[in-house]
Amino acid sequence: MMKVRTMQSLMIYNFGAGPAMLPPGILHRIREDIPNWHEGMSIMEISHRLPRTMQLLAAIEADFRNLLHVPEDFSILFMHGGARAQFSAVPLNLLNGAPSADYFVTGTWSEYAFEEAKKYTQAHCVSDAKTEQFTAIPPADTWSFSENAAYVHYTDNETINGIEFPCPPPFTGPYLVSDMTSNILTREIDFNSFGLIYASAQKNLGIAGITVVIVRKSLLGNAHPYTPSIMNYSAYHETQSMYNTPALFCWYVLGLVLEWAKERGGLTALSEDCVEKSQTIYDVIDSHPDFYQNTVQKSFRSRINVPFTLPTEELTSLFLKEANDLNLKQLKGHALVGGCRASFYNGMPMEGVWKLAELMEAFAKRHG
Ligand SMILES: *Cc1c(COP(=O)(O)O)cnc(C)c1O
Repeated sequence: MMKVRTMQSLMIYNFGAGPAMLPPGILHRIREDIPNWHEGMSIMEISHRLPRTMQLLAAIEADFRNLLHVPEDFSILFMHGGARAQFSAVPLNLLNGAPSADYFVTGTWSEYAFEEAKKYTQAHCVSDAKTEQFTAIPPADTWSFSENAAYVHYTDNETINGIEFPCPPPFTGPYLVSDMTSNILTREIDFNSFGLIYASAQKNLGIAGITVVIVRKSLLGNAHPYTPSIMNYSAYHETQSMYNTPALFCWYVLGLVLEWAKERGGLTALSEDCVEKSQTIYDVIDSHPDFYQNTVQKSFRSRINVPFTLPTEELTSLFLKEANDLNLKQLKGHALVGGCRASFYNGMPMEGVWKLAELMEAFAKRHG
């Protein structure tokens, strides 16, 4: 009893946009496994070829497939290089001789992906939300798709700007490719329209160092000849993601996060959780319209990352300091947009959100 109470009073709530806090219990489990995971060796020291390790990795893949309901005609790859590496890997592997690829630019990350793709192809912008300072996704009747695009890329949730597609963009082209780094495992995905989905782990899946790529098997095998083998999807598919030494520790942590997600109640529970968390904070923002501002159009507000501003720089600094003193950490907004930002990945417990809401209410009353 004593121990639990002590732990709770020391509880740190990390609202950082990534790396993010791990779900409860996972650090404790890692601590137990570190000295001896198998025959006196830690998971950090062990070969990925041992039967016990291979078993673990196969189980993690199966858990991922079951949790997200990934159909059998998709391969699940565990890759290096973060989501940023996918900005290059996607065109290298998927262009397959097509003259162009289509990109939605709805925030900072999709803009980076679009800029990187220009190195490899005539990347075409379907819709540019920058003119509206990334506060909304422009209506479908303004989108322009190109004739012969290999794929249509979009970023499901814009981590920096706090914009999320309510559902995948409807389109008539070949197939969708999506960066879901900041909202994977927060809602059901209908894989029918997708060719590929990628997400690096440090937001909703664990820690930095591993990136999950879910790719339609029929798209494998057509990489550009210059594609570095370490970025080639077929090389990962054919070797069960052991083309070279995998990031085993990151992979193992991902497995613990998936185990936790199953126990939590799977996608249904996780999607309810993030709506409840973000709505709690949007309600506080909207009930103090002269004090807190979130400029994203309501229908595109992210369920995961909530940027907000206060009336002045001084109040912002004071707010961040008071939050920090209450163990509500890393609420400072991204350098590009300023203000504050609260991120509600799966690892954030509801109590952290209530504490933040309480502080925001009290702070607005004191200074509003
Ligand atoms: C964080 C983030 C990235 C960058 O991921 P890295 O793993 O650091 O390369 C890309 N896209 C989105 C949507 C992100 O949130």
